[in-house]
Amino acid sequence: MSKSPSSHPVQVVSHPLVQDKLTRLRDAGTEHGEFRRHMAAIGYHLFYEAARDMPTRTSVVKTPLERMEAPLLGSELVLVAVLRAGLGFLDGILPGFPEARVGYLGLSRDPKSLEAHLYYQNVPMVKADDQVFMLDPMLATGHTAISALEFLERAGARRIKLVCLVASPEGIEVVQNRFPHVTIYTAAIDRALNAKGYIVPGLGDAGDRLYGTLGH
Ligand code: URA
Repeated sequence: MSKSPSSHPVQVVSHPLVQDKLTRLRDAGTEHGEFRRHMAAIGYHLFYEAARDMPTRTSVVKTPLERMEAPLLGSELVLVAVLRAGLGFLDGILPGFPEARVGYLGLSRDPKSLEAHLYYQNVPMVKADDQVFMLDPMLATGHTAISALEFLERAGARRIKLVCLVASPEGIEVVQNRFPHVTIYTAAIDRALNAKGYIVPGLGDAGDRLYGTLGH
């Protein structure tokens, strides 16, 4: 990790387990079944890092031997998956945190302007002190992330972390300018965007690779 979340709005998760998974995801030879499995695993690891500074509260628990004071999460978890690729992360996180409330945002990109269009929204009620993790693996132009973050703020979210897999320098800049208080977690910052708005070297279209719809 680089600096602490409070002092740096971008956290690059350099843990070897994360970097190993990312390389397997980048490999064009990785088929969708294996891709989904790696995506779920890396999603959990990235979420784990993003949740590192969550508040805790003290509870009293009775072990088989005695009572003790022990920590529990101090705020509720809200996971918001940006369709489709965010579902790949959700698969890895939800089994461990079934109590999380889950939202979905569907955004499509206009292939010419690369502007984002919100076509689906189903997000739970969000309280100001809920910790919201927005799951959007590819931070490319930043247009999708901005639309989704604007939606979440309108819905009442005040504590949002953006969990990505690969980010472009352009996407990071756009998000930081508009949402300087949102910390971005990513496994890598890649070189650039190509003319079609894909991250290079990147890993291609994350949704297509997850669901086997390449060339569809
Ligand atoms: N979305 C993707 O899935 N991949 C990119 O490279 C850019 C946006």
